[in-house]
Amino acid sequence: MYIKEVELKNFKSFGKSIRVPLKNDFVTVTGPNGSGKSNIVDALLFALCLSSSRAMRAERLPDLIYRGDNGKNPDFAQVIVRLDNTSRHFPLDQDTIEVSRKIKINRDKYASSYSFNGKSCGQAELLDLLAKAGITPESYNIVMQGDVTRIIEMTAVERRKIIDEIAGVAEFDEKKKKALEE
Ligand code: ATP
Ligand code: MG
Repeated sequence: MYIKEVELKNFKSFGKSIRVPLKNDFVTVTGPNGSGKSNIVDALLFALCLSSSRAMRAERLPDLIYRGDNGKNPDFAQVIVRLDNTSRHFPLDQDTIEVSRKIKINRDKYASSYSFNGKSCGQAELLDLLAKAGITPESYNIVMQGDVTRIIEMTAVERRKIIDEIAGVAEFDEKKKKALEE
């Protein structure tokens, strides 16, 4: 499975709608400092619910919405991720899976909305669906700057936890723990 395309609308430095096509291969993004390379990674973290706003280098989620200098800023940001599912990692008879997350400001409040294959859903539901294909905040779908050093410096027990995550055991440990508590 791989990411075929990511579409950004008013996300961080991208003040309009842009589509970034990706390939099932080694892809690099190059450009001058501050041109938005890392913001593309942040867009993936956002849409796939892989991290907190801090890890996306934003104080609060609304800071992810494009801010221009003409004073007329959009009230929403949206990221759509198109995943290739020809491998059927998602147990669905579809070659492309579309995941979308939008954050919208309404007066001084803001809210996120999510959708999976065009159908709106809650965050918990989306996380469960993504976990079916091994996309979870705990796993290393995206290796961030500093992650490798952190893994090297971990204790054996901490490293074992990562292996449990990758093997898919940890998810069941967590569900078992919850069930026993109920
Ligand atoms: P480097 O090579 O230094 O790592 P980069 O290409 O990874 O640079 P990014 O970190 O992706 O650059 O982009 C940083 C730019 O994004 C900054 O100029 C910052 O002002 C801009 N930016 C971040 N959030 C917003 C926002 N909400 N609205 C407009 N611009 C934003
Ligand atoms: Mg960068």
